Amino acid sequence: MNILSVASEVYPLVKTGGLADVVGALPAALVPHGIRTRTLVPGYPAVLHKLKKKKKVGGFDNLFGHPATVHSAELDGLDLLVLDQPALYARDGGPYLDPTGRDYPDNFRRFAALSLAAAEIAGDNIIPGWKPDLVHVHDWQTALTPVYMHFGSASNMPTVLTIHNIAFQGQFGASVFSELALPPEAFSMQFIEYYGDVGFLKGGLQTATAITTVSPSYAQEILTPEFGMGLEGLLASRVTSLTGIVNGIDADGWDPETDPHIVEHYGPATTKRRAANRKALEERFGLTNTAGPIFCVISRLTWQKGMDLLAEVTDDIVALGGKLVVLGSGDAALEGALLAAASRHRGHIGMVTGYDEPLSHLMQAGADAIIIPSRFEPCGLTQLYGLRYGCVPIVARTGGLTDTIIDANEAALSAKVATGFQFRPVTADGLRLAIRRAFRAYSEPKVWARMQNQGMKSDVSWAKSAERYASLYSGLLAKG
Ligand code: ADP
Repeated sequence: MNILSVASEVYPLVKTGGLADVVGALPAALVPHGIRTRTLVPGYPAVLHKLKKKKKVGGFDNLFGHPATVHSAELDGLDLLVLDQPALYARDGGPYLDPTGRDYPDNFRRFAALSLAAAEIAGDNIIPGWKPDLVHVHDWQTALTPVYMHFGSASNMPTVLTIHNIAFQGQFGASVFSELALPPEAFSMQFIEYYGDVGFLKGGLQTATAITTVSPSYAQEILTPEFGMGLEGLLASRVTSLTGIVNGIDADGWDPETDPHIVEHYGPATTKRRAANRKALEERFGLTNTAGPIFCVISRLTWQKGMDLLAEVTDDIVALGGKLVVLGSGDAALEGALLAAASRHRGHIGMVTGYDEPLSHLMQAGADAIIIPSRFEPCGLTQLYGLRYGCVPIVARTGGLTDTIIDANEAALSAKVATGFQFRPVTADGLRLAIRRAFRAYSEPKVWARMQNQGMKSDVSWAKSAERYASLYSGLLAKG
């Protein structure tokens, strides 16, 4: 089976969040199921520079006003298709934001072009001798693909749309519609019209053959007004086509037995060796006198991620004898609040602002626990890395965090299956309580070691989830 996967980011080429990890890791996990994936991504400078060997395999004379080339390239086992259209993608900033942090004003055009290119690759002879059996698209940036396919020559080919975060919907003023190269009837409730505007994700949810999201709990949550962000009604009408499949992790890139970014390798039977990583972490963040637990946070600094709640409990962590190390960037006010906590508690709280992949590995290997107080979390990856690295997760009970962490309640502790701590309501008090529970467990080395060990034994690989995607794909093709 041949799949065309379409995404606006892919690890290790370009990543702003978990979406890139998923798009980068799923193809390899599907290979044992006889599924070959080609992944179409925009030719951002970062992508084109990193791909030394690429070959032109197709192109468009006129894609949104300019010619475009499709290159094929291989990287770390990924079979990539790169849409090279400098007018749209050769920019100085990131994939979505300019260097000042603002959305590019033509994002609708940049991602409509990606979606249209995908639809044409699926339906027309753009890449001679190659066509997919099914198209799998991710998030709003590629959600117009099934809409273009519906009105194009691949209208019978099944499509899967995965929602990684329903908060990002790609909503634009109605005036952009005339630029999208869609027939007039597409601007209607059945397609992309969304309260008088153009909704990219909305259009995709209407037209994709199947919809998935990245955990079973989030699949339930987005049917409610609290989490559906206005799309709950539409999702309810498509509930029979909606499933939740939890993400796995790149188990080779995140393996404490081989990780090149950590100081000492270890496994479930040798967790004592984490001590060297802990020491390196203390040095990196200037921590002193570290008898108590070290908590870490690796996150976008946003309201969604509950970083305001974290800022409220920093004093408590220090008062209880713990340390905190934070790696993240995002909202300036939240960054300021956490930096202020770090300067208030020098030697006890350390903060690095920015994005630092190697440091994130060392933190998982050296800290005792990772705090994830998200208000909503479709799946979440950092708790999965935490499990694999023996860095016990303390998580809000929401979305994928609910599905992947076993709370250390009485029953789970006595059955010896606990892997972390969950809390609800997602408030500063809720988080405070969970942190107190973690302190208590940490003071009993046997209990803590068992939780670490249990976490490290959890299956966080892609194997089971890839099986579910494979059976979803096969089911869709069988229905044909
Ligand atoms: P989201 O996609 O909503 O940001 P996820 O938990 O699904 O959240 O994925 C976040 C990914 O980004 C993880 O791989 C995490 O390790 C990484 N990450 C987040 N912030 C940073 C940072 N400042 N430096 C390095 N890695 C980060």
